[in-house]
Amino acid sequence: MQDRQVTGTETNFDIVIVGGGLAGASLALALANSPYKVAMIEAVESRAATQPSYDDRTLAVAWTSCRILETLGIWDDLVSSATAIKEIYVSELNRPGKVQLKSADMGFANFGSIIEARAIGTALLQRLESVSNLSRFCPARLNSIEPGDKEVTMRCDLGAEEITLTARLVVAADGARSSIREMLAIPTEIHDYQQTAVIANVTPEKPHQHRAFERFTQSGPVAILPHVSDRCGMVWTVPRGDEKALLKLSDEEFLTQLNQRVSKQTHEFLGDFVKIGRRTSYPLYLVQPKTNLAPRVVLIGNAAHAIHPNSAQGFNLALRDAAALAEILIEQDCGDVGNAEHLRAYDQWREPDQQETIRYSDGLARLFANPGWLASLVRGGGIAIHELFPPLKRKLALGAMGFRGRLPKLARGEVPGIGNRGRKAS
Ligand SMILES: Cc1cc2nc3c(=O)[nH]c(=O)nc-3n(C[C@H](O)[C@H](O)[C@H](O)COP(=O)(O)OP(=O)(O)OC[C@H]3O[C@@H](n4cnc5c(N)ncnc54)[C@H](O)[C@@H]3O)c2cc1C
Repeated sequence: MQDRQVTGTETNFDIVIVGGGLAGASLALALANSPYKVAMIEAVESRAATQPSYDDRTLAVAWTSCRILETLGIWDDLVSSATAIKEIYVSELNRPGKVQLKSADMGFANFGSIIEARAIGTALLQRLESVSNLSRFCPARLNSIEPGDKEVTMRCDLGAEEITLTARLVVAADGARSSIREMLAIPTEIHDYQQTAVIANVTPEKPHQHRAFERFTQSGPVAILPHVSDRCGMVWTVPRGDEKALLKLSDEEFLTQLNQRVSKQTHEFLGDFVKIGRRTSYPLYLVQPKTNLAPRVVLIGNAAHAIHPNSAQGFNLALRDAAALAEILIEQDCGDVGNAEHLRAYDQWREPDQQETIRYSDGLARLFANPGWLASLVRGGGIAIHELFPPLKRKLALGAMGFRGRLPKLARGEVPGIGNRGRKAS
């Protein structure tokens, strides 16, 4: 990989990926074996504290996503940072119903793993160092984009100078506030959940034993995820504004409130939380463009769908997008990588998974935020029904593991255009 900070030599590419976050960097790696000349433009340096993608969020990485990371060749670099999820407990505050899922009951060693976003970013970027068909422009910000018949022209700010790049295909992996979406005037629906997620690492009295807990409350869910060194990742969603008070509390005061918030069952397994790390917060929105395609442009990752973290699917969806797009571009090579048919084939493949995941996470967020008696009935009934009917429970678990429609080859251990790779993630 060439790290070009200020230069104007090579400027014509087959594919330019705008955004080198989790989605963009995953796609760049998935295209490493392709015949294409690829560039990745990223506005923020990877090690900067302001890098928005590679921060200290603990991400639940689904089983199928772990397989994609393994086939991409970075699982060995991640394994010491990954904690397998073997049991999941879902409940609702002040209601008796609960769902318990055990991976062993389903014939799997785990449902996936918890990995810090920063660790995934580091592993991706390290591996990209040796990718010979990739040029990286960082820090570089896309300023304008002009799709044409045969290519797209882009102007990028490299700090001291502006450069012009061209590409047959541009992939917008520039996040929920995608500037490409805005520049191309793609109509986008944005729903503000009026909720904010407060995250931190917390240490319980007892070992987590690979158990994950999610408790729904009317003010938002609290998730406790098994993490390295017997720590847990905490994602506590509160009504917008309430996070200010939570962030200001002393560690002791915060832990007291958290211990009151988690379910009896969580407490039974983990005891009290006794230590907490740095707290940060994220306002939550649903961002859904009317289309993910424009001439010679395709949106992936959060640029195509930023969702509520209650279902822990945002990165998993982004990774399946990247894997599917790479597969189509590599295996349906027709001489023009920005060909509209390619992009339509990608969109038709990915739409059912994207729509189902959005419906599920948005439905959960709205149902649990609704104080009405009907919503309350559906909630209680919904949780109880999952526990009573094993096929429903199995469907829920398989969905969380990323088995949603046609799986990309990378999730099946195959490298597009090459073939099978051995298995390590389990
Ligand atoms: C609290 C929380 C918890 C979550 N937990 C989970 C979980 O457990 N599991 C899961 O799967 N997902 C989870 N997610 C979702 C997940 O973090 C996102 O879906 C994922 O990070 C999206 O990555 P992305 O690369 O598409 O976007 P981003 O991470 O936003 O990256 C976009 C990149 O584009 C760059 N960029 C933007 N504009 C420009 C420009 N003009 N020029 C150049 N570069 C540009 C940015 O600097 C950035 O690096 C969670 C999210 C939150 C908020």
